[in-house]
Amino acid sequence: MTRYAIPAPARPSVAIWQSEARFPVRRIFCVGRNYGDHAREMGHDPDREPPFFFTKPADAVVDDGALLPFPTATENLHHEAELVVAIGQGGTDIALAAALDHVWGYGPGNDLTRRDLQTRAKEMRRPWDMAKGFDNSAVCGALMPAAVIGHPTHARLTTHVGNDLRQDGDIGQMIWPVADVISFLSRLVALAPGDLIYTGTPAGVGPIRRGETCTVAIEGLGQVTTRFAT
Ligand code: MN
Repeated sequence: MTRYAIPAPARPSVAIWQSEARFPVRRIFCVGRNYGDHAREMGHDPDREPPFFFTKPADAVVDDGALLPFPTATENLHHEAELVVAIGQGGTDIALAAALDHVWGYGPGNDLTRRDLQTRAKEMRRPWDMAKGFDNSAVCGALMPAAVIGHPTHARLTTHVGNDLRQDGDIGQMIWPVADVISFLSRLVALAPGDLIYTGTPAGVGPIRRGETCTVAIEGLGQVTTRFAT
């Protein structure tokens, strides 16, 4: 067994629906602009673009029910409601027809974004890491196993901030569905058990302010709520 010079950091993990066991997180990948209406609201033509990816640190994951400090270095924290795919079987160059065999389960997620830092990064052609991969930025509700629920292709996806409905889409609106996302991503990096993929957000992204509560829900997959300190 390896001896470490300092206490080894804890392994990040997310909850599993109706289980004491947790899903260990290896890496977190996210798809940019995977819903046409959101791509258009951000000023892009979704029809011309293949999927692109960015990442968050594994230890950015946050469970349902968290009370988070309001993130530092932003005055424009945005919610992004997303379907999260949990990879149970790794692979490279995964064929489209086999892609869903690599999925362990699904859950509701919130790809929290410092929109002001992202806008500045885009303008200056700089990386998105500090806009997307900050502490507690990968909110993820309890995962449901595909062995139990199958592979959902249509389900309403919503965000509420307080009582306001902010996003109201359907996972069936993805430009690149889950199988395509897995196949594309596996040509860029080797996927492995424990990887999470945030699959993009529909239109309606907007700010969460100090003291507010944000809930992302996916029909049939439960919901995930996050409270922010004042
Ligand atoms: Mn996103």
